[in-house]
Amino acid sequence: RMFHPCDESVQATNDDASECKRSAIKLGYWKDDYIGYFIKSTERKAPEINRGYFARVKGVEILIEKFLQKTGDKCQIINLGCGFDTLYWRLRDAGHMINNFVELDFPTVTSKKCYFIKRNKNLLSKIYVEDEDIRFNPTDLHAPNYHIMGVDLRNVDEVANKLKQAEVDFTVPTIFLAECVLVYIEAQNCTNLLKWFSSQFQTAVFVIYEQVNMNDRFGDVMLSNLRSRGCSLAGVEACITLDTQVLRLINCGFSGAKAYDMVQVYESIPIAERNRIERLEMLDEGELLTQLFQHYCIAIGWVGDLFQDVEIP
Ligand code: SAM
Repeated sequence: RMFHPCDESVQATNDDASECKRSAIKLGYWKDDYIGYFIKSTERKAPEINRGYFARVKGVEILIEKFLQKTGDKCQIINLGCGFDTLYWRLRDAGHMINNFVELDFPTVTSKKCYFIKRNKNLLSKIYVEDEDIRFNPTDLHAPNYHIMGVDLRNVDEVANKLKQAEVDFTVPTIFLAECVLVYIEAQNCTNLLKWFSSQFQTAVFVIYEQVNMNDRFGDVMLSNLRSRGCSLAGVEACITLDTQVLRLINCGFSGAKAYDMVQVYESIPIAERNRIERLEMLDEGELLTQLFQHYCIAIGWVGDLFQDVEIP
């Protein structure tokens, strides 16, 4: 396997994301009873960061709800670069038992997640199905409806092999999530991966949350901050504009695609919910938050007819 000196810094971005989510959760932005089992830090982040994460988590949640309204639980969720995301457990608490929920990340990250799941009965009991075995090794864990596996997403053959191990069914409607993941992956590897997904699955929607409008001064600052932490932003080409985000998906074989900046996504969150969270913390001035919202987006691409009208209002 090729050695990438920056992989370690990329894996560390998960700690950062998890810390930020925990900060916002602790302040009451949204409910998550599980993140604390994965990340100990309770450092309070700036209000702009907390609100940014709120919009990110809500935006993805809105799309998952729309997806589940169409498919019910007879579907698959494939969470790429899952980090310590707790979506599986939050959906269980909301009454969902998804047919197959699959999580992939570097083995160093999945081994930590597996370790936390194995030793925590609140996490473990929700993946347990009566009379069924849970199989695991240090980096992978297989339960009947939940699989987490260590893999390098740059290697399509390895990904294909892992999905096979998780008994992923290419004919079942599938939603892919890639929250701040593709930006770290070289464009060619990302193309190969997306093309493979769009050609294998009959009915799928691919949800990307990541940077956009990286071609202005604020974007430059964001990129140099990330680079100064040692991360290669090999996939940043697709983050230049909303159009480049859409084009990447189309060029990779998706039948249609749309992209929204987070200003649009935030405005689509029900007003009562926005009012509630806007009272949680004071912002000095809204300018920085608006700029952050302008520099992140949600892009969706679909294959098959089921999701072609999926949109953020
Ligand atoms: N999606 C999670 C979230 O939003 O909380 C974690 C986001 S974190 C910024 C990016 C994640 O992508 C890290 O956990 C990292 O290890 C994973 N990742 C990046 N490149 C990867 C690759 N080539 N193979 C597997 N995982 C990768």
